[in-house]
Amino acid sequence: MGVFPAVEVPSMLRLPVSRSSVRALPTPPERSGPRRKMLLLFAAGVLSQYSLDVLAVGHSGWTLAIRLTWALGMVASALLLDERSESSVRLHTAFQSAIASLSFTALVLVTGATGSTYFHFFPCIPLIVCLLYPLDWTAASVSGVLCGVGSAGLLWVEGRPLFAVLQWAGVVVTVALIGAYGVQQFRKAQLAENEGRLERARREALETLAISESRRVHSEKLATIGQLAASVMHEINNPVAFIGANLDYLEREVLSGSQVPREELAEVFQETRAGVERVRQIIADLRGFSRMDAEEPTECALADVVSDAARIARLRLKHVARLEVDIPEDLPPVHAVRRRLAQVLLNLLVNAGDSLEAGGRDGSEVRITGTREGTRVVLRVEDNGPGFPPHVLPHLFETFFTTKDPEKGTGLGLALSRETVEQFGGSLVAENREEGGARLILEFPVAGDTGQEG
Ligand code: ADP
Repeated sequence: MGVFPAVEVPSMLRLPVSRSSVRALPTPPERSGPRRKMLLLFAAGVLSQYSLDVLAVGHSGWTLAIRLTWALGMVASALLLDERSESSVRLHTAFQSAIASLSFTALVLVTGATGSTYFHFFPCIPLIVCLLYPLDWTAASVSGVLCGVGSAGLLWVEGRPLFAVLQWAGVVVTVALIGAYGVQQFRKAQLAENEGRLERARREALETLAISESRRVHSEKLATIGQLAASVMHEINNPVAFIGANLDYLEREVLSGSQVPREELAEVFQETRAGVERVRQIIADLRGFSRMDAEEPTECALADVVSDAARIARLRLKHVARLEVDIPEDLPPVHAVRRRLAQVLLNLLVNAGDSLEAGGRDGSEVRITGTREGTRVVLRVEDNGPGFPPHVLPHLFETFFTTKDPEKGTGLGLALSRETVEQFGGSLVAENREEGGARLILEFPVAGDTGQEG
């Protein structure tokens, strides 16, 4: 059983998002999309454009043969392509780009070379390739080189001046480079979008985790307060009873007009005010423990932490055991959140109360001692109850491990206590005392200690 506020998300859950992790994501929809279907459609388009050849040069067996070869190449590529394999997609993209560029060059050649209507479309081929394969700049490069060489070759064969040949090749290659640059930018934008999406998903997951963690902690805390309820009611009942009795007395005396001595009146008022103050203090302590807000660790004195916890724990231990506290005044501070450490201690004290109550022995005692041991501060919470049975000891810090009835124990107290203590750089272990009873040992580094004994 235990009480805890909202906790930070464990650091192991803070997954770094790197560019490489984004690249390792499953292939984006464009890559794993219906490439095969697109290739088959494109093959059909290449064949159907034979009608353009007819318009340009009349019926030609050569253009038909070239288009058939082109289309068959695409169909073969569609059938052999493994869309899940990046290397297969790359290989086929380069192949399709090459076959498109070579087929187009051949078409130009058989339809009139530099005089062909198609000749002026040379610079468009790398751009079309970029549109078809927007994620792979190698396709644009392959097409740029082949179309540049093809167009320049046709001009060279016709005996055009070197300047004109180079100019054409330059135009085609420049257009291909612009296309490849566009592809690169598109790919970057897509990676950035994926990264953003992943980061958003990661943040949402962490928020959900932090909320559920905080709820888990809060419900455990409320469970402890619920367990304290009987003691709290008893503790509040006492002052409320004598406040009521005092009011009855005052009412009776004032209404009957009797002359009550001033000292007696002052005593009644003082007693009543003390009762109200006691109730207010109990409520303030409980409210402090049930708060959920997160706080930053600061230097805190263990004497304060222990007294916070002991004030509430006394409500529970009052009729069960004597509570002894021995914290030297010069005990160095530790770096922690005071309220959360107090919750850990309260949890241990309530557990001690439970085991002593179950043991039902006279002379029950719970003791908290603090010592400095080298660079560490050590707190020991001990009781002279039955201690931990041997089969229980190895499981104490497991989440949901409890030997109590379901309405009394959640099995979260010690697990969360250890988690909290470790968040402050400390440790929490349990053992049986030689003389009988349980001992919980909390160790913390001294706040601001540089590792040298002082
Ligand atoms: P819960 O109190 O809800 O059972 P905890 O994690 O706080 O959960 O404790 C787990 C178990 O450890 C308890 O059920 C009890 O068996 C054992 N335990 C804890 N503190 C003591 C103690 N001081 N003496 C004997 N047994 C203890």
